Amino acid sequence: MGSDLDFREFNKNRTYIADILNLKDGVEVELAGWVYDTRALGKIRFLMLRDITGAVQVTAVKGKAGDDSFDLMDRVSRESVVYVKGKVKDSNQAPGGKEVVPDEMKLISKADDLPIDVSEYSKTELPKRLDYRFLDLHRRPVQAIFKIESTILQAFREFMVSNGAMEAQFPSIIGSSSEGGTELFEAKYFEKKAFLSQSCQLYKQMLACSMEKVFAVFTVWRAEKHNTVRHLNEARQFDYEQAFADEFVVMDVLSRCVQFIIKKVMKENAKELEIIGVKLRVPKTKYMTFADVKNLVESKGAHCGEDDLSTEAEKKLGELFPDTIVFVHDWPIKGKPFYIMPKGDGLSGGFDAIYQGMEITSGGQRVHIPEILEKQLKERGLDPADFKSYIDSFRYGAPPHAGWGMGLERLTMLILGLQNIREVVLFPRDKDRLTP
Ligand code: ATP
Ligand code: MG
Repeated sequence: MGSDLDFREFNKNRTYIADILNLKDGVEVELAGWVYDTRALGKIRFLMLRDITGAVQVTAVKGKAGDDSFDLMDRVSRESVVYVKGKVKDSNQAPGGKEVVPDEMKLISKADDLPIDVSEYSKTELPKRLDYRFLDLHRRPVQAIFKIESTILQAFREFMVSNGAMEAQFPSIIGSSSEGGTELFEAKYFEKKAFLSQSCQLYKQMLACSMEKVFAVFTVWRAEKHNTVRHLNEARQFDYEQAFADEFVVMDVLSRCVQFIIKKVMKENAKELEIIGVKLRVPKTKYMTFADVKNLVESKGAHCGEDDLSTEAEKKLGELFPDTIVFVHDWPIKGKPFYIMPKGDGLSGGFDAIYQGMEITSGGQRVHIPEILEKQLKERGLDPADFKSYIDSFRYGAPPHAGWGMGLERLTMLILGLQNIREVVLFPRDKDRLTP
């Protein structure tokens, strides 16, 4: 219901707006899309029609027999959905050099008064835009972000498959903490208490000990109470784990992976990058020990942190090494979780990768020796009994292994130079937001 358009026929005949550029004068097209704007000029009406591929000007003249497009264009509201059948016409005045002269126009779905500004450079603030995210998604710059994010997701999978890794699925409901710490959402699981997963860490390790190279795109939940521009309470992670590897092996995989992703975005999303005004460069890589980073950052007058990099230190690295993935390795063991391999002298096989002034990845060589795991769990006030099956998994032939986790949204935000991580989440979950 809603219109008398036959969508089975329409889908056979439809022209996408971007393809109009390649059509000759006089070719008949059938279009559908959203009304971006209308303008009146004497006896002429202009309508900018937008579909997912682009926008085109539809131009109607008053008094054309058997066609009420002119009247419809006079009253149709912005963002209403319309169908247009008409002919392509070369035009110097029209954006892109082509316009469509309608023979028939139908209103498919009328839009009410719009609660937010949906113009290209919307003046509506982010929280309000997120309240109406479904409408915000009508905007081309917003669509561009999510098309690029989709490329990033596909590129990660493509890289990993060509790297010989297997995609895995892990449980999201867990019986005890996977990382330690208190940032867990509790759930009721029949008579038991359960938690939403904060990472697939333990599972991917157990899997790498048989399948060697594994990856996942995994949703994580973290009950962090602070609202920041770089944290979400529900986020997606790219996870990788490899057997017979140390941290240097997987840092190299990570650098090639990020470079592959960015190259693919540059190749496939040139149009979207232009819409949002982003010029991308394939990042270089740099390796530094935590101690060297500390010396450098402090010599520049910034605070570093003892066993974790401060936000200020990450920012400083971004300033000193733009368009570079900075691998900070030989990280103090105190600043890393129990599953990271200690190296002696208070150091560890753990690392972080910093890109454009922010952490994108944590990773490292893991502990595959049960006694060391038990010791490190206890040192962090955790009970080895809660991790029994995980610890036991390393008793029956477990190779040394290493891996990492990279935030999809964090990476997307930094690639696109956006200031708030919520810009790159369709329906973000933060402390104050559970809808839409
Ligand atoms: P940060 O120090 O930035 O809070 P983290 O060290 O707690 O992050 P990890 O557990 O190392 O995070 O997770 C691996 C990656 O996942 C991070 O480097 C980041 O890219 C991403 N990530 C972690 N927590 C969040 C979050 N709350 N929201 C969005 N992305 C996140
Ligand atoms: Mg981290």
